[in-house]
Amino acid sequence: MTATSLMENHRAASTLVDLLDGNGRFVAGEPRYRRDIVAARTAAPDQQPSAAVFTCIDSRVTAESVFDCDFGQLLVVRTAGHVPDRAAVGSLEFAAAELGVSLVVVLGHERCGAINAALHAVEEESHDPRSGYLVEQLWQPASQALAESGEEPNTASHAMRLQVRRTVADLGRRASLDGVLVVGAVYDLDTGVVSLVDES
Ligand SMILES: [Zn+2]
Repeated sequence: MTATSLMENHRAASTLVDLLDGNGRFVAGEPRYRRDIVAARTAAPDQQPSAAVFTCIDSRVTAESVFDCDFGQLLVVRTAGHVPDRAAVGSLEFAAAELGVSLVVVLGHERCGAINAALHAVEEESHDPRSGYLVEQLWQPASQALAESGEEPNTASHAMRLQVRRTVADLGRRASLDGVLVVGAVYDLDTGVVSLVDES
């Protein structure tokens, strides 16, 4: 590892600590940032986001609130079930290359509608053409979760965690994101807590 990549890694690790501290403030009900019009105007001239969050489109998952970040601090990319399609990956590549982002957090969440649709489709062995692309992309983690945990209540949670790990692995393999720390995490809708997901 070169001195530059060591420094990058250190920067990414300390950014991750900052984000988790922000989540602690969010959970404690003590946010530091108001994210009001004054803050928006202050941040307006330029942006220097330190991290990107790649998460689901779910209306209950608001990354800036969850990590208690201000305008200009966090770059957020969203697709249903955080499926890493070309435009999403391209956005993260842009964040790394052009905006100097050194950390990507792949953030899954409980009770994910996209994951549930994929589980349902695998169980029924058919799927609604309107969600065809997503179901196709989420078929593997859904079928693996069903095979490993059957119809147990934690199947959806297991499938979501598999999808977080798959997304992390997908991004981690890309030379275009060399030097970027990619970590997986899960957001608990009920408690507001973000927990890191290990890679295995
Ligand atoms: Zn979701």
